[in-house]
Amino acid sequence: MALERTLGIIKPDAVAGGHIGEIIAITEQNGFRIRGAKMLRLSQSETEAFYEVHRQRPFFAGLVKFMTEGPVIVLALEREDAVAQWRELMGATNPGNAAEGTIRKRFAENIERNSVHGSDAPETAAQEIPFFFSGAELL
Ligand code: UDP
Ligand code: MG
Repeated sequence: MALERTLGIIKPDAVAGGHIGEIIAITEQNGFRIRGAKMLRLSQSETEAFYEVHRQRPFFAGLVKFMTEGPVIVLALEREDAVAQWRELMGATNPGNAAEGTIRKRFAENIERNSVHGSDAPETAAQEIPFFFSGAELL
């Protein structure tokens, strides 16, 4: 299988909790190469655009408030089968359902404050990576 890229985000709960280093360590230990990385504070309009597919969902307003409450780390991650492998390493959206050894099982507080984001398909990754990274920022 060919190398693939996905977008990961370390969300405000995990950054505030002091888990950036551990999450990046777990990520590298699981075979991902970091091709882009930066810390930023998302604006409300950026967050609304990023999560546009969820705009009609009941959790949308809370999700935008959460994602803008503090800095995040955005990551362009590369490995074979990166999209599916990163989803597996993150664990289920609801940490109560997340498997042992996953990032969300270890760090997530609840279904909203769940520590990490990952693209849900290669086509989504192809939109989400350029949302945050210019070509020159992907190394
Ligand atoms: N979310 C929430 N309540 C829900 C479902 C999702 O607050 O009932 C939040 C949560 O932070 C989640 C994000 O919205 O990570 C995007 O939801 P999605 O279903 O895409 O989950 P993911 O792809 O992040 O596992
Ligand atoms: Mg999703």
